[in-house]
Order: sequence, then C-alpha cells, then structure tokens
Amino acid sequence: IYGYAGSMLRIDLSNNKITTTPLKEELVEEYVGGRGFTAKILYDENPPNVHPFSPDNIFVVAMGPLSGHMLPSSGKTHFATKSPATGGYGDSNMGGHFGVTMKYAGYDVMILKGKAEKRSYILIDDDKVTIVDAEKYWGKGSAEIEEAMKKELGDEFQILTIGPAGENLVNFACISHDFGRQAGRIGIGAVLGSKNIKAIAVRGTKGIPVFDPALLLEKGKKMYADLRKKPGFTGWTPQGTAGITDWCNNVGALPTRNFQKSSCDYAEKINGQAVLKELKITDKGCFSCPTPCGKYGHAKTKIGDAYVEGPEYETLSLLGSNCDISNIHDIAYLNYICDELGLDTCSAGVVLSFAFECYEKGLLSKEEVGMDIKFGDFDSAVYLLRHIAEREGIGNVLAEGVRGAAETIGKGSDVFAIHVKGLEWTGYESRNAPGMMLGYMTADIGAHHGRCWVLGNDVAGSAVVGNVNDLISGEQNANQLPKAKHEHVVPIVLKSQHIRPAFDIIGTCRLQFMEIGLETSYYEDVFYAITGRKFSWVELETLSEKLWHLNRMYNVREINDFGRKYDYPPKRFYTEPIPDGPNKGHFVAFDAIEEMLDNYYDGRGWDRNGIPTRETLEKFDLNL
Ligand code: SF4
Repeated sequence: IYGYAGSMLRIDLSNNKITTTPLKEELVEEYVGGRGFTAKILYDENPPNVHPFSPDNIFVVAMGPLSGHMLPSSGKTHFATKSPATGGYGDSNMGGHFGVTMKYAGYDVMILKGKAEKRSYILIDDDKVTIVDAEKYWGKGSAEIEEAMKKELGDEFQILTIGPAGENLVNFACISHDFGRQAGRIGIGAVLGSKNIKAIAVRGTKGIPVFDPALLLEKGKKMYADLRKKPGFTGWTPQGTAGITDWCNNVGALPTRNFQKSSCDYAEKINGQAVLKELKITDKGCFSCPTPCGKYGHAKTKIGDAYVEGPEYETLSLLGSNCDISNIHDIAYLNYICDELGLDTCSAGVVLSFAFECYEKGLLSKEEVGMDIKFGDFDSAVYLLRHIAEREGIGNVLAEGVRGAAETIGKGSDVFAIHVKGLEWTGYESRNAPGMMLGYMTADIGAHHGRCWVLGNDVAGSAVVGNVNDLISGEQNANQLPKAKHEHVVPIVLKSQHIRPAFDIIGTCRLQFMEIGLETSYYEDVFYAITGRKFSWVELETLSEKLWHLNRMYNVREINDFGRKYDYPPKRFYTEPIPDGPNKGHFVAFDAIEEMLDNYYDGRGWDRNGIPTRETLEKFDLNL
C-alpha cells in the first residue's frame, strides 16, 4: 500500500509469540493511520472492562501515512491504551524519530499484549524482533538508559524508555525518547511498566513505497519553501512554546498556586526570554522539522546542575507559577527530574500544587508528608517528585493523580483537585475562557489542550465567540447571559476538536498549520503524491469527528455509569471567582456550564447524558 510500510507487528509478551501480518487495507481505507488506527484497534481488540495494568490491556503504537517522508515535521508517533489515569480511552502523541524508524523497519502498527516473565526490553532490528533481558536497566533514569542502550546497540537505534515512575505504576508515568521527548499524560509509561517492559529499541533500514516520487519531491519542496516564507516562521523557533508565557499572564490564563489565581507577578522571570537568556544552549527538533520548538539547555541549582530539553510552556506554567516556583533554573531542574523519573510534567505540576494547597489548608500534616512542604519551595517539589516516582509514603497517595489523592485525603480537597475524568488540567486557567473550558471538559482522554485550543477566541472575544465578558458571570447570573453567545462557543470548540487531533491521524506535527498558517491544500497534495489516494481536508476532519464518537463509546463501555457527570470541570472553576489580576471576579457559573454542555451535546449528536445517539453512530458508520 503506497505510503505505508505494509505490516502490523504483534507481540504477545506472555508467551514470546511474535507475528507480523499485512496491514489491513480496510483499516487504511476507513481509519487512514496514527490516531485512527489506535482508536479502532483499541475498541476492537481490547477486552471490555480490562484493568489498565492487566496483561490483557493492549498497548498500540501506530504511525500515519505522512510519517517518515521528507516533509515538514512528519515524524509523529501515536500511542494508545486503556488509561490508568482515567480508566477510559487513553492516547498520546510523540515527536522525535521513533515512529519513522518503525516504518523504516517495516511496521505501521505494533500491538503489545501480555506481560514479560522477566524485566525486559524489546529489540526490533528490521525483521528480527527479540525480547531481551533488561534487569541491568531496571530502576535507572530514562535518559541514562537511553544513552547506555545507544552505546550498547548503536546510535542508529531509536529508543523508548520508561523511568522508575513507569516501573512503579504511577498513574501519570510517561514514555521518554530522544533525550527529552515524551509521550505523556495518560499513564502510558505505567502500562509498559506493568508489562515488565523497560524500553523498546528499533533500527529500520527499509524504504516506504511512494505513489508518485517526483510529485512528492515537487510538492514537498514547495511545502518547505512556502513555510519558510510565512511571517510566523522565524518568530516561532527561538523561544518555542515558552514564548506564550507573557501573553497567558497578561490575559489571565497562567495557572498560579494550584489554579487559585490566573496570573503572577514574576512572569518575566519564567518566560521565553528567561529560557533564552538563562538556559538555552541550542534548539532541538523532531524528524524533518524546520521549526524546532525544543530548547536544549543547562539548569543550575543548589542541589546540582543538569542538561535538559525544556522547559516548554506547559512545564513552565505547571511546575512553575502553578507551584509558585519563580526561578527558571529550578523549574528546568524539576523538568529534568521528571524526565529522568519518567513523570509527565503537566500532571506532576498539578499534583504537586494540589499537595501544597492541601498542606497549606491543614488537610495534610507534617507527619503524613514527612517534611514541611509549601508553595514556592524547590526542596518540597524535589522531595515530592522522588517520593511519587517510588510510591513512597505520601508519594503513594499522590501517585494516583489528584482525583485519586483527593479521594484518599478527603476533607473537601476534591474542590481544588484540578482534573477532568481523572486527568490533570494543563496550563491554561479557564475561568475567563468558557470555550477553552468546554474543550477541556469534553476531551476524550480528560483535561488536555492537545484536543482543543480556543483560548485566543475566548480572550479576543472574537466575532465567533462574541464578547467573552458577556459569557462569564462574576455573580452567578448565568440566566441573564445572552443564550446565543453560549451557542457560539460550541462550533469553535467542535472545529478545534476536529482539526487539532487530525494531525495525529496523518502523522505530522500540527504546529506548522496551527501556529504558522501552512494551508490545508499542502497536506492534501502530499497525501495524494504519497498514497495515490485523493483525500480531502474535509474528509480528514470528518474522520477526526468520527473518532470522537468512537472514543466516547469506548468510555461508555469501560467506565461505570459514564456520561455527563464525567464532563464537569473542577468545582473551583464554578464556585470560586478569580481573586485578583486581569480577570478579578470571573468564573463560569454552573448554569452556564450546563447550558454549554447541552449545546455541545446537541452539536455532537449526543443525548443529554452525553451518549452518542444511534442516529449519530449510524451516520458515521459505527456499528457499535
Ligand atoms: Fe517537534 Fe516542535 Fe518541530 Fe513539532 S515543531 S515537529 S513538536 S520540534
């Protein structure tokens, strides 16, 4: 099949059974690649109600048709499994060079199931696939073993690793790769840990068949050339995502002190300029990327120094202002610790800030924690991260994530446990941004910005959204709000929810489209040149929409009593006005949240409990 490596690799770790089968044409036809493949395979092949850490929970890796071709940023890899963080559909996307190398080894999809008898890693060398003893690597940090494995196997091997957090089944353990790239959020590293798999190493030396190589060369060159001419091209790279920090602070979207506040008075110390001046050594990018957003730098702290990729915006906001840590070197070092331990920095930041607030409010004692902890204290953060990764003491409680920790701690702590569906909220305070809030509330994997980003519309009060201040009640007067404006939030949220994850289907980074403005026609042109299939942008968005229904049904199947109640934001966001800063007094009233959800469900074709109707499923050919 043009554009694809052509094979699916299946590894049953329980009995060392390794099989390769041809990539199914009907899967390609209907689900195209990447996120499309993982969603369909997880729904069809994962046993209903399987525990995330059961050997039967499958772990799927898939690449898209554009992955591995010399096009701007065409090196994304998609992962999916049942999430230990949410108990529902979980997926994650990662840059670097792993996925393209899997394709060069001959595989578009890899499905792991079972559990290795001994601590192991998977070695894929083109057609030769073996399970190798990894006892000597167990307990080691992610980059540490990536370096050691490269020394042992050769630099041309691309390596995924988990850190101690994954080994110890921390609910927000991630996978690391390429010395600083992660597949994070939903606890995917813990699922590998539960299978006794410390790493996956791959070398690939084959080619990928292309329908019209000359046309691909022509279109690919034009894609690069035109991207370079875009006004945003040179502006994006120097600071990467950290460049957004000042804007977020100015508009009141920078989470501060566990989302108690939406701005801080030290943003200039932790912004993109601070990354540039204090930390950065060089830019670092993924496969074939002309706009490298990674910043490789050197952090120096009182407990040591470290080379680290980052921090990018999410890490700056969640391990920085949200924990009230204002020293850029300290934040970067916490980033490094998370990377070595294999912890998702977004969830880790929210978990730490939750613990600080619990302690400040007297809901956790010194005896329970093991030391005095407080906002703004680097030592407290280091202590907690290490205990979480080892599941020691209070770390064992926090390793469950804020939803689980609030259930254990009780005493009303659920009000400020900032998550949706069990996944911690990422770096955008949304009490001034109902569209962004709705996007987080309804995301299939829980509160993650990768599914929807409409903060710009919210803040601008654009023609689509209307005046954002009219949408927000400081006095719970939602009934007085203009109904039409609530309805206007839904179309932009739906559009964003379809477009952003669409890139996870084709296997490219979305940044060149979302942030720099590369036109959709380029993707249509290269898709045709690679696959010989005319696949329009509209068809891609329609497939992306279909996956929302499929993944929603996965959650309906897997989560007991799943429905509307899983779509509410944390209580803080509809009960506590922002205390100061640019949006002082704002919050989204509960009535307004209910109204937005009703409108969203109508827009999706779901019933008032948020379940896709039979008519909707049939419209999208989902016979579930
Ligand atoms: Fe990777 Fe950043 Fe380039 Fe996207 S923009 S491909 S995430 S380096």
